[in-house]
Amino acid sequence: MKRKILLLITGCIITVTALTWIQGYFIYNTYLLKAKEANAVISRQFLTMETSGKLDTLNHAWMGKAAQFIKDYIQQKATKEDLEKIIKATSDSLSQVAIKSIKKKKFYEDYDVSYANYLSTIVIYKKGSKVGDTIYSGKMLLYGNNIEQSNESKASQSKSRDDSYDSYSYEIISDRFYGIANWRKQIIVKMSGLLVFSTALLIFVVLLFYWSIKNLITQKKIADIKTDFINNITHEFQTPLAALDIAVATLKKKEGELTPEQFNYTLSIVDRQNVRMQKLFNQVTRASLATDAIDITNAQTIGYTEIQEIINDFIISHPDTTINFEEENKNRSLYIDRFHLDTIVVNLLDNAVKYGATTITIRLGKETKNTILQVQDNGIGIAQKEQLAIFDKFYRVQKGDVHTTKGLGLGLFYVQQIIAAYKGTISVTSEIGQGATFIISIPQP
Ligand code: ADP
Repeated sequence: MKRKILLLITGCIITVTALTWIQGYFIYNTYLLKAKEANAVISRQFLTMETSGKLDTLNHAWMGKAAQFIKDYIQQKATKEDLEKIIKATSDSLSQVAIKSIKKKKFYEDYDVSYANYLSTIVIYKKGSKVGDTIYSGKMLLYGNNIEQSNESKASQSKSRDDSYDSYSYEIISDRFYGIANWRKQIIVKMSGLLVFSTALLIFVVLLFYWSIKNLITQKKIADIKTDFINNITHEFQTPLAALDIAVATLKKKEGELTPEQFNYTLSIVDRQNVRMQKLFNQVTRASLATDAIDITNAQTIGYTEIQEIINDFIISHPDTTINFEEENKNRSLYIDRFHLDTIVVNLLDNAVKYGATTITIRLGKETKNTILQVQDNGIGIAQKEQLAIFDKFYRVQKGDVHTTKGLGLGLFYVQQIIAAYKGTISVTSEIGQGATFIISIPQP
């Protein structure tokens, strides 16, 4: 079963990893597709804008300046270096106009787009010569918007040639670029719904797996506890039933032949086994009582003498065990039903002996408003990780040779139920091989 659960956990981890990978792959592809689609549509929209003549005024403006510069250059009134100054002087104001007209246009899915027109080449041809004089070659901004934030793609190129002059002609090439400003961020924002949904879905799947596995482990624990309980209870009842069988057979067969001693001995067996079975039966039925079903109305002040009495009664049936009762202040007392205190102390003493103790020390102390009852033994001890669970219903420590000792796992549960009914607490401090100390704290009125 443990192997199966481990396999299941591994399977779940692999499935979640694979699902995450597949989802990541699909999201990434969607992202690429979205980017591609936006690029294609926006480039078409810019092309329509250019061909519809909306940017013509801008283009005429800078081309006029360029034509004037070429004229001045031919007449040697200007040098190549002056071109940059001339273009720069107009590019800012042209950009303002460009920003306005691009803002007016509604672009695909409201993306924040960028557009720029760059001067690439100016070549002047002397009349009759086919070889031109390249007076500019590079990338000089004519106008644009948002350019600093975007990843540009080339949209179109325009070539214009003017042959209207007598002594020269010229060709101007400009390149238009477009882009989506902060495109990664913009696309991711547009995909946020999908991203949130798929992350939530993944978290949900992980939680579902976690919850199912946790549930399975709990179910397995409960099933184990039930099996153990049935095994233990069968064993516990088997011994007295077998003894009773023999006793009844003896009484039946040898009626008249039995001496009074033999008869009394057999009867004492019947009596003892009867008491034992009743004890077991009580344990099982009491365990199903809720804390509030435990009647505490008969609580009374119980002092040193009564506790000593309980201890003395126990010693009679366990003569090999040394029990010390340490009490510095004999006026200390517990406010509890005598029958309940008896059950608590006898259960703890029984356990101490069952789990290897030869010496037990009981202490009665005080801590603010509570009385503290400590039962310390020198038995096999309880591992740290078991110390909380031993108070659970049907819980028994499953390790080593502990299980040669039979029990129902109900004793400490019932003890805790009684103490809880008095609004007290029980805890244990122990180390394997070092004995155990049970500490009970009960509020005093
Ligand atoms: P049971 O004794 O019938 O198993 P309990 O509820 O009394 O049931 O105890 C639960 C478990 O706690 C026991 O199975 C045992 O392993 C452990 N335990 C209880 N008391 C002691 C003790 N004094 N020393 C060592 N182990 C103990």
